[in-house]
Amino acid sequence: MKLIALPAFTDNYIWMLHDGHRALVVDPGDAKPVLEGLHHMGLQLETILVTHHHTDHTGAVAILRQTTGAKVYGPAHEVMPEPLSRLCGGDQLQSLGLTFEVIDVPGHTAGHIAYYCAAGDETPLLFCGDTLFSGGCGRLFEGSPAQMLASLDKLAALPDATRICCAHEYTLSNLRFAAAVEPANQTLMDYAESARDLRARLQPTLPSTLGVERQINPFLRTRQTAVIQAAQAIDACAQDEVGVFAALRLWKNRFQ
Ligand code: ZN
Ligand code: FE
Repeated sequence: MKLIALPAFTDNYIWMLHDGHRALVVDPGDAKPVLEGLHHMGLQLETILVTHHHTDHTGAVAILRQTTGAKVYGPAHEVMPEPLSRLCGGDQLQSLGLTFEVIDVPGHTAGHIAYYCAAGDETPLLFCGDTLFSGGCGRLFEGSPAQMLASLDKLAALPDATRICCAHEYTLSNLRFAAAVEPANQTLMDYAESARDLRARLQPTLPSTLGVERQINPFLRTRQTAVIQAAQAIDACAQDEVGVFAALRLWKNRFQ
């Protein structure tokens, strides 16, 4: 099974999984890179997975469904281009001979879902949309800090080897913030150097792995002493874990 990050717009990735014949894409905001990819590799689009309702993730769903006949899956509780199969946490779907499990991850949007695939002999896959990014997390447009923290906790409970397929290339700016939070985290500094090197060669920094994210992503590290202290230095009211997470998220929003 081959995994490809198709660049779209300025910093989106449309993830494509294929077996040489059939393909699945996640969050197709733009049809062009998908149709070109299908054409160049001679693939039939079987499945479209959508994580949330934002246009940069849904813009090409209708046209791709019409032109390829692909089956569309998306969140149960968001406004979506119809028709589609609506899913929520605990549901499963099959595509390309693989099973995908749905995880509810509200926070960026109210009905955001993620797709986890144990992937048989290969390392597991997570398509997490705009919930978890490498070195960061999505903005809280429709959810509370408590909801987003609970969503990230669910993702953090997946196996370390899980390949984290995020929908945006935000890694370098996220890592600048992460370095401000944890300047003494050497794993973070080493990871940032390899990420800068990849971007200098115009390569994606993704997929990341959950094991790496647990060591470098401040939003998965809100119970670490260094992260708690950094959050409290910015906001003395950040006492409990939700308070620490909320202070970090607000600090990131202002961070240049
Ligand atoms: Zn979004
Ligand atoms: Fe997005």
